[in-house]
Amino acid sequence: METDKLLENNERYSKGDAVHKPNYPGRQPIQPSKRVAVVACMDARLDVEDLLGLQTGEAHIIRNAGGVVTEDAIRCLIISHHLLNTREFVLIHHTRCGMLAFTDDLLKAGLEGDAASGKLLGQATGRKFAGPGKSSCSPSQFHAFRGAIEPLDSPRSEKSTERLEWDVRRSMSIIQSHPWIPTQGEDAVTVRGFIYDVDTGKLEEVSYPGPMGSFG
Ligand SMILES: [Zn+2]
Repeated sequence: METDKLLENNERYSKGDAVHKPNYPGRQPIQPSKRVAVVACMDARLDVEDLLGLQTGEAHIIRNAGGVVTEDAIRCLIISHHLLNTREFVLIHHTRCGMLAFTDDLLKAGLEGDAASGKLLGQATGRKFAGPGKSSCSPSQFHAFRGAIEPLDSPRSEKSTERLEWDVRRSMSIIQSHPWIPTQGEDAVTVRGFIYDVDTGKLEEVSYPGPMGSFG
């Protein structure tokens, strides 16, 4: 399984090795050669190709705020598998993620001009929050992680690890239950989820199935 090799690469990366080669590799086929697709957070501290030791041409990398399996991520994964032949999906959330530090309701209220929400968001981010004071139906969700929020960029804790695990499992469940993503039979894809620790450079696998979160 390619995912296991990526974990070995990550072990080397966390010890200081440069596994990813930056130079142009020459002409390559459109299909990712390792048959892997990765969904990861957009956080600036993650270099996905580096931390997995992936070379150019080996995998699809899909990134968004949180590494959440959103409608657009599902769209990409369906195309990745059915048209471009990938068969291993790797999900990466990470410690100190910004998605632990707000809720959808708080951000929406702030954007809609609520002064108290804007003040809280300003304190959380260290940036003056300027809500435009208008409402919008889009994006319909920000997908902030479930559970009690913590200050931005807080060191890892048991609670924040649990919240990350919840969301990794929710993302795995969304993929595994999607009618257009086969998880059994000859054309099956595998899905594995991880938490990347930005303070150590290491990936840790999230057990599945398991709890997916409670309110508050
Ligand atoms: Zn993040």
